[in-house]
Amino acid sequence: MIVALAIAILLGFLFYASYSIKSQVYVRALCRVKTQEKVVYLTFDDAPDAVQTPKVLDVLKRNGIKAAFFCIGGRVAGCESIVKRIADDGHLIGNHSYSHKNTFPILSRRTMIADIERCQSELRRATGTDTPFFRPPFGVTNPRVAHTVRKLNLKVIGWSIRTYDTNQPPVEKVLRRIRRHLKSGSIILLHDGISGSETLLQAVIDTIRSEGYSFGELKF
Ligand SMILES: [Zn+2]
Repeated sequence: MIVALAIAILLGFLFYASYSIKSQVYVRALCRVKTQEKVVYLTFDDAPDAVQTPKVLDVLKRNGIKAAFFCIGGRVAGCESIVKRIADDGHLIGNHSYSHKNTFPILSRRTMIADIERCQSELRRATGTDTPFFRPPFGVTNPRVAHTVRKLNLKVIGWSIRTYDTNQPPVEKVLRRIRRHLKSGSIILLHDGISGSETLLQAVIDTIRSEGYSFGELKF
């Protein structure tokens, strides 16, 4: 009985360690900025999207906000000008792997490094520069991801507020969740590619501002 309980607790811990980027068990990640100021940071995963990303960029520009976009290398071809625009608009660009496969966390060390480097070269092709920033697909970390990050000298950026926007919940539900978790230095995870992302983004911005927070730019 006690052994079974110990195993259950251990498995629970290992699951948390891998699936919560905030756990910091395997990889040191910036998940919240240390600050006393009421400032928060917007980040977008799985960019670019030919239709939605330009709309999201328009909303950010209109509101004078700089965000971070974690791009999937396999989505860059055909969207080079959009990726270039993300950089030209002054947003941070990060590597989010080339394949973004479910199996990413269990790839061999060599294949994982090659996948990240392939994304790097796609981003370089579009923007002309390298990015030192990385967000692991699904936020999953483990010893292999840690090895890759060390080997390629990447800075990992996580999040402190997950919006679950990819499930397309009602906008009000997303806003409630953000209001509940909002703190100084929060890093918020959104996805630019989902349909209606520009409308959701404006609602998120308005809500955060109405709570007395402003938007910061992730700088290192
Ligand atoms: Zn992703």
